[in-house]
Amino acid sequence: ANRVHRESLIFGPVRLEDHEEVTSNINSSFDWVEGIEGCIGNTPLVHIRSLSEATGCIILAKAELLNGAGGSPKDRVALNMIQDAEERGLLVPGRGDTIYEGTVGSTGISLATLARAKGYKCHICMPNDMAIEKSQLLHHLGATVERVKPAPITSPDHFVNLARRRAKEHEATHADGSVGFFADQFESTANFQAHVKTTGPEIYRQTGGQLDAFVAGAGTGGTIAGVAKYLKEEKNLTDVRVVLADPQGSGLYNKIRHGVMYSSTEREGTRRRQQVDTIVEGIGINRITENFESGRVLIDDAVRVTDEQACRMARWLVEHDGIFCGSSTAVNCVAAVVTAMKLPKGSRVVTLLCDSGNRHLSKFWKQIGEMGLENDTQAQAEDLFAELG
Ligand code: PMP
Repeated sequence: ANRVHRESLIFGPVRLEDHEEVTSNINSSFDWVEGIEGCIGNTPLVHIRSLSEATGCIILAKAELLNGAGGSPKDRVALNMIQDAEERGLLVPGRGDTIYEGTVGSTGISLATLARAKGYKCHICMPNDMAIEKSQLLHHLGATVERVKPAPITSPDHFVNLARRRAKEHEATHADGSVGFFADQFESTANFQAHVKTTGPEIYRQTGGQLDAFVAGAGTGGTIAGVAKYLKEEKNLTDVRVVLADPQGSGLYNKIRHGVMYSSTEREGTRRRQQVDTIVEGIGINRITENFESGRVLIDDAVRVTDEQACRMARWLVEHDGIFCGSSTAVNCVAAVVTAMKLPKGSRVVTLLCDSGNRHLSKFWKQIGEMGLENDTQAQAEDLFAELG
């Protein structure tokens, strides 16, 4: 009878019963959602007219940048990981628990936002070569941020290993009964399950199940694995071509095309390289994660996209469609065009607009400026499509 939902800053403890009474009264006469988490999912599927005209196919993109908490598909993942942890008793509201995560940015921003909304603290470990605006945003969201030198995944100082270690250290450094929870987006299957539960069904509903290809990059692999699983296994759309969009320097392309992460000539160089050598943030990786593995056999093909192609595509999308995107979106769109050009005219190709260019001003868009693409000409744009065809 006396269940306390959480402490109201102004009015003191709020009983869950009060909350339910108030919300059920309002619900009858208003159109509203429950908190910031109510702004996650049900994103529009946008027809990208210029890409359809250029390819003769129908190119559609799920506007994941409109997820209203952290502005990327990672909102879905963060929400599902937190809910899953709460169901398993690993996170308890009101106990002062801290969520720890290793992320290149988007997942951290979603977790930090939802942590605030749900009364948790958040500690983010990220590589220090990601666009600075991401860590600034995390700071303003109240997360503690550790930016670390890029290191191989085998190093204890790799950002993911550091986040795991910080979570383990939590109880020794906090004597208040709170616990540390390592969200672990790369290995936790609550990640791809978020896409099986929401992104996949939305795409199915929005296309009426009429799609010929789904194209996405992989950071953790959660999106591509989850959507592929839903469409191919749950809805039996076995003919949908699932295509990985992979930036230069990533090992996943070779894994899908040739069954090995590195070709014999690449092996040494790639091993020595500590990270994926690309300007693109959020996708491309040199190891197989649990989330990628869970959908790997459902991926039919891969397209490798150079940084230059991604930059030119980003410019094209602003110029022709008024879409200002980040780097992983640009890679997705290049790969969607390449995929469409191999399919019969009129085929429907679905991809994702992952995040806004606002989060990529200091790196990706700076490079676009330095390449002189701000003054892109029609000729340059035509070159891009000629090259992709
Ligand atoms: N785009 C952006 C901007 C991202 O941050 C990520 C994930 N790091 C992805 C795409 C890829 O999503 P996933 O982890 O589901 O493979």
